[in-house]
Amino acid sequence: MTSRSARAKRVTSDAQVPPKGPVTKTRAPVTAVAPPDEAPARKPRAGRPPAAPLVAPTPEHLASVRGPLLDWYDRNRRDLPWRRTKDPYAIWLSEVMLQQTQVSTVIPYWERFLKRFPTARALASAPLDDVLAGWKGLGYYSRARNLHRAAQEVVARFGGALPSTAAALLELPGFGRYTAGAVASIAFGEEAPLVDGNVARVFARVFEVEGLPGDRQREATLWALAAALVKGKRPGDLNQALMEHGATTCRPENPLCLLCPVRTACVAFRKGRVDELPPAKVRATPKKLTLAVAVWPHAGTLLFARRADAGLFGGLWELPGAEIADDAPDTEARARIAAALGVEVKLEGALGAVKRQLTHRDLTLRLLRVSGARRPTSTPAFQELRWCTPADAASLGMSTAMQRALDAALTTGVLAGG
Ligand code: SF4
Repeated sequence: MTSRSARAKRVTSDAQVPPKGPVTKTRAPVTAVAPPDEAPARKPRAGRPPAAPLVAPTPEHLASVRGPLLDWYDRNRRDLPWRRTKDPYAIWLSEVMLQQTQVSTVIPYWERFLKRFPTARALASAPLDDVLAGWKGLGYYSRARNLHRAAQEVVARFGGALPSTAAALLELPGFGRYTAGAVASIAFGEEAPLVDGNVARVFARVFEVEGLPGDRQREATLWALAAALVKGKRPGDLNQALMEHGATTCRPENPLCLLCPVRTACVAFRKGRVDELPPAKVRATPKKLTLAVAVWPHAGTLLFARRADAGLFGGLWELPGAEIADDAPDTEARARIAAALGVEVKLEGALGAVKRQLTHRDLTLRLLRVSGARRPTSTPAFQELRWCTPADAASLGMSTAMQRALDAALTTGVLAGG
């Protein structure tokens, strides 16, 4: 029982917004391994292990991994919907959705999204708002924006058909080396390597690769190993087998070595170093981010704003928010909201706060009921302002955090009688 499924939580550089409930905890948390051309060189921190030595496995060692792994995959692969298609667009969509997200969450989204946007051409011609609304609840909305932009480029440059090589795919928005390798190998059968966190862990153990995620030489080593191993028959299956093996058998904690198809080839197992490799990553403490959020009722509607495309929650709709200090008084929060909206606002009262844990931030949304003599319809701080009923707002692309804030605001009865 394996799959790309369990390699959920492939962290990518554009990951910002946590998905709903189940995706915040995955069976096999992994860490993205940015390829050398995507990750800036970082100076080793004090206490880090030394830079990884390049390992150069023999052809026999590679073969002793490749064959058994493919056999194991044939016996254990799960029947997932995107494995029943050869459509590169559908496979690409699954790869993008699976980043940061569990397979059980992705399946219904993938099916719905594909029904709504069945081809790259259909996706390209859809308004971004519709795409973001189709992504609602899945989180990490930059994935949807990049998907949309890439689809438009696929139509403009390739007549609607995805290019078939990793090199060409890499030129599209949102394609890193991982996604390009996955689509090229799985959809087109190219011997294109990929490394995600699960693959990195498997390689670290099987080939005894030292070093921490982010170490440039380690990552170069991992990608070189992936390139060597993918050569041969069934490159797409080989890549998927590696990821599933890492997710379900060669797990971060308590790997199932006695059930492992490549145990005899595993250097860490032979040397008793399984618990040492790879070394645990030191996680940065999330930063605090507090936003004052305007709840401005008027005649059954609330004021909504669309953020600029760049940055956190880029392009998404929200109850208009402005960043404030964690301990800022309500008067200051009111002033920040007024500045963002470009009109005077009156503070009517505080409606509580909503807290959310994002990947790199502890987010607090402080809800403030406001009013004003002049209702704004545009402001430079936002792409767009709109007065909407909650029913109309349901079709807007909105982050899970903001949806919770809206729900919290509505439960206070802020629109009652309005
Ligand atoms: S023997 Fe254990 S550590 Fe080595 S690849 Fe298999 S599961 Fe992973």
